[in-house]
Amino acid sequence: MRVLITGVGDAFSRVHYGSSAVVESGRAYVAIDCPDPYHRVLHEACGASGWRITADAIDDYIITHLHADHCHGLETVGLSQWVARMKGSRQAAPRLHTSAAAAGKLWEMLEPGMGTLIGTGRPMTIEDYFDVRILTPGETAKVGPLAVRARVTTHHVPTLGLLLSDGARTLGWSSDTRYEQAHIDWLAEADVIVHETSPLPAHCPVEHLNEQAAAVRAKMRLVHAPDGFDAMRTDIPLLREGDVLEV
Ligand SMILES: [Zn+2]
Repeated sequence: MRVLITGVGDAFSRVHYGSSAVVESGRAYVAIDCPDPYHRVLHEACGASGWRITADAIDDYIITHLHADHCHGLETVGLSQWVARMKGSRQAAPRLHTSAAAAGKLWEMLEPGMGTLIGTGRPMTIEDYFDVRILTPGETAKVGPLAVRARVTTHHVPTLGLLLSDGARTLGWSSDTRYEQAHIDWLAEADVIVHETSPLPAHCPVEHLNEQAAAVRAKMRLVHAPDGFDAMRTDIPLLREGDVLEV
């Protein structure tokens, strides 16, 4: 499993995209979150890493929660993939995996920009753009080639942390979360853990991550730090856009 880091910023960043990644397993690609402007987000991460993918290559999108910096790329992805299907260059709508709580609000968020298209002669629905699948905490879901488990984090809105496994190796993704030791303990079985850090409310100050056992810190990488974050405050490496993790 290889992971292309596509965004490392927090919601207020002037220089980074929202924290996000694309997981490569076999010949399949699974996106973790989808910040705007997603086509450019992918393009720049590819330019920095040597990967050659566009949104066309991604069949599965996991949306951890509905904060803009994690999901506002869905409109352009949904529309571009719809156009691709109309042209015949794509067969099926991409699958979108998220919590039941987020799924219930998804179309409310997307409808103003996606609810009508000239020429269709009918109102559009979420099913025109995405095959929505529910991630249920405590259950294992099939997401493309991966087995994905989810855990509800402590955040402003319903949010899922993730364990993604290809059967041999596991990636842990904290998603946005307040410091919660039980969440870190849940992620600790992973071979690589991408954890958020931020001093803002409902996020995880780095001091709490610095206190983790050496074996956990050794496999941890950081995203979601505020602009200007001093990397010397921790021995846990800070990720950059375009980094590739070998899990
Ligand atoms: Zn958030």
